[in-house]
Amino acid sequence: MLLYYDKISEVMSRLEEALECVVPGEFVALLNLDIDNFKMLNDSVGHTAADELVGNVETALNIELSDHDYIGRSGNDEFIILCDGLRSREECEAKALQIMNVFDRHRFDAGEGRRIYVSASMGVVIVPKDGKGNFKEILRNLESSLHVAKEAGKGTYRIFDSSLENVTEDKYKLQDDMQRGLRENQFELYYQPKVNLHSDCVYGFEALLRWHHPTKGILLPSEFIPFAEESDIIFEIGRLVLRNGCRQLGIWQKSGRDVSLALNLSGKQFREPGIINFILSCIAENDINPNKLEIEITETAAISDFDYTIMVINMLRQIGVTFSLDDFGTGYSSLSYLKQLPVDSLKIDKSFMDTMPDDDRDQMIVETIISLAKTLNMSVIAEGVENKKQEKLLKNMNCNYAQGFLYSCAVPANIASLMIG
Ligand code: C2E
Ligand code: MG
Ligand code: MG
Repeated sequence: MLLYYDKISEVMSRLEEALECVVPGEFVALLNLDIDNFKMLNDSVGHTAADELVGNVETALNIELSDHDYIGRSGNDEFIILCDGLRSREECEAKALQIMNVFDRHRFDAGEGRRIYVSASMGVVIVPKDGKGNFKEILRNLESSLHVAKEAGKGTYRIFDSSLENVTEDKYKLQDDMQRGLRENQFELYYQPKVNLHSDCVYGFEALLRWHHPTKGILLPSEFIPFAEESDIIFEIGRLVLRNGCRQLGIWQKSGRDVSLALNLSGKQFREPGIINFILSCIAENDINPNKLEIEITETAAISDFDYTIMVINMLRQIGVTFSLDDFGTGYSSLSYLKQLPVDSLKIDKSFMDTMPDDDRDQMIVETIISLAKTLNMSVIAEGVENKKQEKLLKNMNCNYAQGFLYSCAVPANIASLMIG
C-alpha cells in the first residue's frame, strides 16, 4: 500500500481543494475502481505479469482522463480517480461510463504475448462544488457504492445515492453485533446428516453455523459470513466452529457413536497463521479420532493460494483428518487443479440436484463427476437432495453419499444425536 501512497495522497489533496472551492453548477466525481478477480489473475499469470497488466490498465484509463482529472493507484488492483470541473450530473455519469467502457474495448497485455480480458467494479460519488462537501462522508459513501457494485456482480458500477446511505453503517453495525454475539455465545452449530446411499444410514454430519441474533432471529451464514470475512472476525468464528465442532464430535465418540463430522472453513481462515496447530489442539483437547474429522473447502478458497493450501491439507491429512471439495461444479472445476488437490471426496453442488431430474445433460454431468471422483480415488456426496426421484437417480449412478432436506435440514446437536441411535 505504501508503494502507492504518493499518488493517492495527491488525489486526496486535490479532492480537498476541489471541495473547498465554490463553483456554482460544477461537480466533482470521485471514482473507486477495483479490478475483478484479481487474486485469481495473480494465481494464473503470476505476480509480475498481473502487475504489468494493472500498469497497462492504468495507461488505458489515463487516455480517458482530461487535464482536470487525477488518478492514483490505491492498492494492487485498485484505483481512485478524481474528475473535476464537470458541469452536470449527466456529465459525471457519462464520465463514469466512459471509464467503465475501457474494459469492454480492451484486452490487456500481461507480458509474454498474453492478452487478457479483465473486468472491474466501480463505486462513484458525485459532489456539487458548493463548498459543503464533507471529505470523510464522501470516502464512506465511495466505499458503500463500490461495495454495492461488487455485490451486484462483476463489471458494474454504482453511483452513490441516498438509498446507499446506510450500507457501510449497516456493515459496521453487523460486525459490532457479531463481536458481541461471539462474546455472548449467540452462535451455534447445527448439524445436517449425511446418508450412506448403499445402507440408507446416517454416517455423519456437516456442521452449519447459525447465529441467534437478539433482534433478527436465526441468521444463516450467507447473511453474516461475507461480512465476517471482510474483517478479522472470520478468524474468531473459524476458531469457534473448530472448537465447538470438535467438542461435539468428542461427545459423540465418547458415547460410542461412530460418526464423522465435517466443518466448513473459508479461504481466509484456511490461510490464518497457526491454523494447523489450532486444529491439532482441538483434536487433542477433545481426544477425538482425527479420521472422523473432515474439513470442507471450496475450490475458489483452495486455488487462491494453491501451494499453501496443498501444504496445509497434506500436513493435516498425515494425522488422519480428511478433506472434501465443497460446491464442486460451480467454480472452475479445473481438472488440473483437481488432479493436484489431495482431497478425499467431492461434494456435488446442489444446483445440479435442482435440475437433474428433468435435464438429461445435468444427469450426464453428475454421472461424469461421480466417475471422475472414483477414478481419482475420491468418494462422492451429492448436496441438496430434496426428493426420492433425485435419490433414485443418484443410487443408479452409484453415488456414495447424499445430504439434503429429503433426510433432514441442519438441526441442533441434541436432535442430531437422535438420528444416530
Ligand atoms: P455449504 O457448505 O455448501 O452448505 C450447504 C448449504 O445448503 C447449507 O446452507 C444447507 O442448509 C443448505 N442445504 C442443505 N440441504 C439442502 C437442500 O436439500 N435444499 C436446499 N435448498 N438447501 C440445502 P447454510 O447452512 O445456509 O450454509 C450456506 C453456506 O455457508 C455453506 O454452504 C458454507 O459454505 C457456509 N457455512 C456454513 N457454516 C459455516 C461455517 O461454520 N464456517 C464457514 N466458514 N462457512 C460456513
Ligand atoms: Mg459445506
Ligand atoms: Mg456446498
